[in-house]
Amino acid sequence: MLTAPESPLCVLTIHAHPDDEASKGAPTLAKYHDLGVRTVLVCCTGGEEGDLQNSTLRDEGGPFHGLTPEQEKQHLARIRPVELAESAKVIGFDQVIMLGYRDSGMADSPPNAHPDCFHQAALDEAVGRLVSIIRRERPQVIITYGDDQRGYPHPDHLKVHDISVPAFERAGDAMWYPWAGEPWQPLKMYYSVWARTRLIAVHEAMLAKLGKSPYDDKWLNRPGQDERITTRIDVASHMRARSGALRAHATQVDPKEPWWFGLDDDELVAAYPYEDWVLAKSAVGAPDADVVEIDLFAGIKEVIALEPGQSFPGRLSSPALVETEVGEVA
Ligand SMILES: [Zn+2]
Repeated sequence: MLTAPESPLCVLTIHAHPDDEASKGAPTLAKYHDLGVRTVLVCCTGGEEGDLQNSTLRDEGGPFHGLTPEQEKQHLARIRPVELAESAKVIGFDQVIMLGYRDSGMADSPPNAHPDCFHQAALDEAVGRLVSIIRRERPQVIITYGDDQRGYPHPDHLKVHDISVPAFERAGDAMWYPWAGEPWQPLKMYYSVWARTRLIAVHEAMLAKLGKSPYDDKWLNRPGQDERITTRIDVASHMRARSGALRAHATQVDPKEPWWFGLDDDELVAAYPYEDWVLAKSAVGAPDADVVEIDLFAGIKEVIALEPGQSFPGRLSSPALVETEVGEVA
């Protein structure tokens, strides 16, 4: 098996804040790392606007004991990069790259106006930063947030999507950002998605175990996007990456919170052992409508295999990217 630094295969995932990499896709990335695929995390902000979510850290002897709200905020900003590094280690990221913007805070809050925040960043400038990373890291697969974020419309999460789509398209185009390195065309782009099937399975497992579930009617009645799912990764062997990475973000995740930890790893695997993805763009074709992909690199390994003795060129000679219009947003 190829070790990660020598592997021609690379997946790059883009997240908004430290801790998003733990709650979305950690088992999938851990699995690919163990398969010898190089794994790269781009984190767009430092999470400066996060609050302390684990009040036990304010107890006597805890790192936040006796701090004023202002001191608490400063301490959080110092700790979050350390938590991110620990989480990335648990998951097995080969590379963590900060895009360098400030956390924009929740929608319509004053930090949205901070000149250094991600929300305020000029689109072409932010896309350029991401393009330079893509050209350096040379991923075949890019993972980002979807176009439908009604469930959690955080300005930074929306912006992750908004810069990822043009970055995917411009990275291989020499006309864009000539300063940003040799063009490199990623071949597939996926959106992360929470399957409604998963939500129901976890809800029912929690009811069976605890007699209650953190998913209320607001959650249960939310329209799903399951009909858009193209790709289902079996992550039973790597579910521990999720819980381990979440625990690494000790300031952001209360270890007693049933939302995160109502089921342990084995119970979660028994309830729903998959992570689901939407193939949004592909230059190597898409699965037939009645087929569910089980590998993010489906179609890519075959392309690489066609060119023995060569490191994967990445740059497509001319063919335009095939847009896979997978499901219309309601
Ligand atoms: Zn976030």
